[in-house]
Amino acid sequence: MSTPVEVHAKAESLYSVGMTDVVDSPTAPDHAETLFGPDIPQVRSLVTEIPGPRSIELMNRRSGAVSAGVGGTLPVFVDRAGGGVIVDVDGNSLIDLGSGIAVTTIGNAHPAVVKAITEQAPRFTHTCFMVTPYEGYVAVCEQLNRLTPGDHAKKSALFNSGAEAVENAVKIARAYTGRQAIVVFEHGYHGRTNLTMALTSKNMPYKHSFGPFAPEVYRMPMSYPFRDGRYTGAEVATWATTKMDKEIGGANIAAILIEPIQGEGGFIVPATGFLKELSDYATANGIVFISDEIQSGFCRTGQWFAIEFDHVVPDMITTAKGIADGMPLAGVTGRAEMMDAVHAGGLGGTYGGNPVACAAALASIHVMETEDSNTRAQQIETLMRARLNAMAEAHPHIGDIRGRGAMLAIELVTPGTLEPDAEAASRISKACHGEGVVVLSAGTFGNVLRFLPPLSISDELLHEALDVLAANL
Ligand SMILES: *Cc1c(COP(=O)(O)O)cnc(C)c1O
Repeated sequence: MSTPVEVHAKAESLYSVGMTDVVDSPTAPDHAETLFGPDIPQVRSLVTEIPGPRSIELMNRRSGAVSAGVGGTLPVFVDRAGGGVIVDVDGNSLIDLGSGIAVTTIGNAHPAVVKAITEQAPRFTHTCFMVTPYEGYVAVCEQLNRLTPGDHAKKSALFNSGAEAVENAVKIARAYTGRQAIVVFEHGYHGRTNLTMALTSKNMPYKHSFGPFAPEVYRMPMSYPFRDGRYTGAEVATWATTKMDKEIGGANIAAILIEPIQGEGGFIVPATGFLKELSDYATANGIVFISDEIQSGFCRTGQWFAIEFDHVVPDMITTAKGIADGMPLAGVTGRAEMMDAVHAGGLGGTYGGNPVACAAALASIHVMETEDSNTRAQQIETLMRARLNAMAEAHPHIGDIRGRGAMLAIELVTPGTLEPDAEAASRISKACHGEGVVVLSAGTFGNVLRFLPPLSISDELLHEALDVLAANL
């Protein structure tokens, strides 16, 4: 196993191969292929306790240097990652069912992405697109315009984080409509900046002690079939649109902002008809319908974008997480007339659409298309659902199994009731971590375990991770 120093030395030699060898010759061997990702043994292997001594040492340094306000799920420090595993600094190899929160969808340090980054970085790392532009930014916007639902004229703008994309989508919707009110939904999550805290539903840990929050944000009921299954999607939507009409007034609403599958909220998939009815209400009232696909987008669910399952064409769509295999990049894509409604200079930012991040995004999109990532996400769903269904038969505290593609979750409850069991979620996830499987929790009640494996994980590793889960339920 490589130490961090060895890995760094390898990266340096790749860098020094030079532009003529790697960049300009289409027949150049793919150096990256042999250096990253694929050469990490695809096994779960624990050689120390979790955390091991080097991680403990680094955790101590972390406590001394890093704000206590920055959260942590596992106390292990990473050496490298790829395929379906994360290797820590003690040499433990963990199975990754988190993808860095739905980011490394095509696999951590995918060779094609590493190659693209390695080709772009020596050319230039930054100029600011608003000062002296470059092709990569335009090319990413073209891809977003092509891949997002609907064949209307579209335009895009790029930013650094999901929260920043959501904030800008709201700015654009307000400028376009000349209205102020923004409608969001129970259990929704849209980020941690001031405006996006207001848009986010859950107090702890996202909002507690951080107010005051931005005004003109209205939260509506969300279709949550496990908990409101006696109502159809259309009925819950009618409840929401009636509230909008009576409490805000459709003519005052700039945007309806919703995650087509809620991420942090616990992978809540609204009942069929819910999103369609909201979108129809938006169209009828001149409201911009924004699909926040920051977690659900880019092949995570087995479609490019989760809203496609509902046959809804959103006016605007926000993207980030899975777009660039871990390089910070986010986008807003929307109807051209909306995106052009903002005065010149009204959108932007120093780093937005960084050239290295754009190169990574273009490579990621190419990989998703050539490796048919949507099909792989669907296969993962089939494999995992069969295993999770079998677990639910034996363990009645699994109240619900839901999600799409490689975005699946179980909701834990007191058997036979809807009573959330957050203690079980925390006990099970800790046990999985201790046995070398990275799982994440979610949900307003903290009682959901969510699974976001990279699509590069092998079926064998996925089965092994699910064996560990089953043994700890
Ligand atoms: C993660 C997330 C965000 C915020 O993205 P950041 O990059 O963390 O700012 C917004 N919306 C959704 C649906 C997310 O999952």
